[in-house]
Amino acid sequence: MRSIKSKLFLYYSLTITIVLILISLLSNYFFEKNKENTTYELLNATNTQIYEFIKTSSKEKIRDIDKYIDLKNQFLIIFSEKKIIFTNQSRYKTQDFLDEIDFYENDRDFDKEKSHRKKHIEDKYEKFYEDGFIEIDDFIFAVDLVEKADREYEVYIGVDEKLLEESIEGIYNSILGIAIFIYIVLLISGYILIDRTIKPLRYILKELKLIQEDEDLSKRLNSLDTKDEFEELVNSFNKMRDNIESSVENIKQFSSDASHELKTPLTVIQGEIELVKNKKLNSDEINILINKIDKEQKKLQEIITNFLLLSRLDKESIHSSKCMLDSVSFEVIEQNLENIEKKSLELRLGIEEDVEVNFSKKYLYIVLNNLVSNAIKYTEEGYLHIRVYKQNTQTIFSIEDSGIGLNKEDKEKIFERFYRVDKARTDFKDGIGLGLCIVKKICTKFNSNIEVNSQENKGSTFKIKFA
Ligand code: ADP
Repeated sequence: MRSIKSKLFLYYSLTITIVLILISLLSNYFFEKNKENTTYELLNATNTQIYEFIKTSSKEKIRDIDKYIDLKNQFLIIFSEKKIIFTNQSRYKTQDFLDEIDFYENDRDFDKEKSHRKKHIEDKYEKFYEDGFIEIDDFIFAVDLVEKADREYEVYIGVDEKLLEESIEGIYNSILGIAIFIYIVLLISGYILIDRTIKPLRYILKELKLIQEDEDLSKRLNSLDTKDEFEELVNSFNKMRDNIESSVENIKQFSSDASHELKTPLTVIQGEIELVKNKKLNSDEINILINKIDKEQKKLQEIITNFLLLSRLDKESIHSSKCMLDSVSFEVIEQNLENIEKKSLELRLGIEEDVEVNFSKKYLYIVLNNLVSNAIKYTEEGYLHIRVYKQNTQTIFSIEDSGIGLNKEDKEKIFERFYRVDKARTDFKDGIGLGLCIVKKICTKFNSNIEVNSQENKGSTFKIKFA
């Protein structure tokens, strides 16, 4: 497997290599272009200097012209009346040049009118002409005629292209050298930067491997302070571990609670059966035992039904549809009417008509039935007040009772699984502590909100605010 570091470094070095190659190619192109311009600019500049110098200097001074004008890389020959006044090249080279341009040949027109002389020179060197300059061998010459009162000077100023090329190539090479140096510096600094950037990743991987080998779910990655995605990754991982840990804790708690809750009625049933087996009982006693067993088996059934409902709620995606809250409320009241009458509780109703909610009828029934049966179960005397109404845009179901109520601490916990308020207060009631947990889960599924208001020994009000 290739490491991220080597991949990143490969991409990075490829990119800078391509960029540097492009820069070199471009600079080479511009240097080539520039070379010509530089030649002509140099010639023109020196030519102007020479022109000015000859105009203002004596013949003797002109002989020392190289002392006053920089002629580096340039070839200067000055003639006056067919004699060489000045040359900065060797005799041999100068002669070579003169032969090349047939300086002394075909010169019948040389004594023509002065005004025609420049034209004459241009005509004479026509075959060498290129853009106003004369090209001979490796030299490019500008030819000029400087006229003074006493005499005139024929000036040939040339640039050795090879020399110029060499000096330009020198610059080009040093730029290339600098580019290579920068390239190496970029490679090294890039490598160091990439290494530093992914260092937290290496740390995370190392720690993850250690955590993986260990089964302890409480282990977390040490948080990073990089203020980037790595820090986010560590935080997300730790959050995920938190969730997994609490889920596993929940499952453990659930299975221990579940087995405990299942075991209790089973133990009671087993005890009663032992009693029947070992004792001679009369029919009344047997009846009492059978009733006890029946009660416990009903409890078992209720626990199992609620377990199944809880697991279905966890898995299933439930679709909502329009349900009539008022009519479901009446169905639930009717179902519980017998128990209300048994306890002689006053039933107060405030149910608005045709109140629609987005829910599922089946689950709405379960929710309301739990709340109503709890209110009956935990109220010995007084009243139940059931309301269905609209407040602003919200639809509300509320049930108020004058029962045993809840203290602050219990109020926070009653929606937890298997939570039952202090046994001493509620032991006389049947119940397994799953009802409100189911109610809360269903409400959350349908984006509705359940809240409770209660005062110990005064009563409680449960309120559902529908989405
Ligand atoms: P249970 O099967 O015990 O009724 P629930 O989940 O329905 O389980 O309720 C959890 C606990 O909340 C109950 O044990 C009870 O102590 C308390 N509780 C629920 N409804 C009321 C109420 N109307 N008045 C007082 N206490 C209540």
